[in-house]
Amino acid sequence: MTFKSETSTVPSIVLNDGNVIPQLGFGVFQVPSEDVFSAVTTALEVGYRSIDTAAIYGNEEGTGRAIRESGLPRDEIYVTTKLWNAEQGYDSTLRAFDASLQRLGLDYLDLYLIHWPVAEADRFVDTFRAFQALKSHGRVRSIGVSNFTVANIQRLIAETGEIPVVNQVELHPRLAQRELREYHAGNAIATEAWSPLGQGTLLDERTISAVAAEVGRTPAQVIIRWHLQLGNIVIPKSVTPSRIAENFDVFGFELTPEQMDAINGLDAGARIGPDPDRFTYGLID
Ligand code: NAD
Repeated sequence: MTFKSETSTVPSIVLNDGNVIPQLGFGVFQVPSEDVFSAVTTALEVGYRSIDTAAIYGNEEGTGRAIRESGLPRDEIYVTTKLWNAEQGYDSTLRAFDASLQRLGLDYLDLYLIHWPVAEADRFVDTFRAFQALKSHGRVRSIGVSNFTVANIQRLIAETGEIPVVNQVELHPRLAQRELREYHAGNAIATEAWSPLGQGTLLDERTISAVAAEVGRTPAQVIIRWHLQLGNIVIPKSVTPSRIAENFDVFGFELTPEQMDAINGLDAGARIGPDPDRFTYGLID
């Protein structure tokens, strides 16, 4: 297999701790463990250099094996995983991190995220303190959050003195998260978009199809381009090799301000996934 050695087509986002993350990465949510090795291998062949997994996805082993067997230097691949809700708390976080790193077969992680705030459990502050300890020991380069509201982030910063580098949230043309993005931008937090294609539900939307016809690209490429031009970090998922390649081929065209506006007009505040204020799945007590 051949791996592209240059990744210069993908812009980097500089995080508030000085580390850099590729703006376009590859997500592996719902990719069964038996399929993840080939999906991640294909993504790395195509040129992706950032992989987003999570303990709860049950596919850290295959993800890590694809990374290790790619032959690429470890420092050329950006690896993110996430702490599951049930593991929140200081000591349990340290144990969960060790288990994730062991499953991945790596000796450090680039980015560790608190998967959901589960605010009613009142453990995300202790969890983030454990993240700070892991960072200070060099086991993870950057620490951030996922599915956090502004109120959650404000509390985290007030009580730990540390600003998370990213907040990974549901974000696509029907849930554009304008206010949250503005808060992030004003507080040096990078916005990372999950379900960036609306899990595929936006691909036959009329406005998207019209823009795709105008620029001679596919609907998925148009949506990914919309994210990139907004400044989002974006992590589309596919297990189909042609789509994995298609989703990476987004640097040879641009959307005009009018096309961006047309897509911005689709925002309906409509979630596909759970409401972060209510999601307590996996909570143990
Ligand atoms: P997505 O928006 O990336 O959509 C993926 C689906 O879109 C695929 O399963 C396929 O059906 C379709 N698709 C992808 N490319 C296509 C193409 N070129 N042409 C046609 N159809 C195409 O959805 P996602 O997987 O939910 O989100 C992406 C990543 O975000 C996940 O893999 C995961 O890493 C992350 N994520 C994080 C959270 C969180 O709570 N932090 C939640 C969900 C997802």
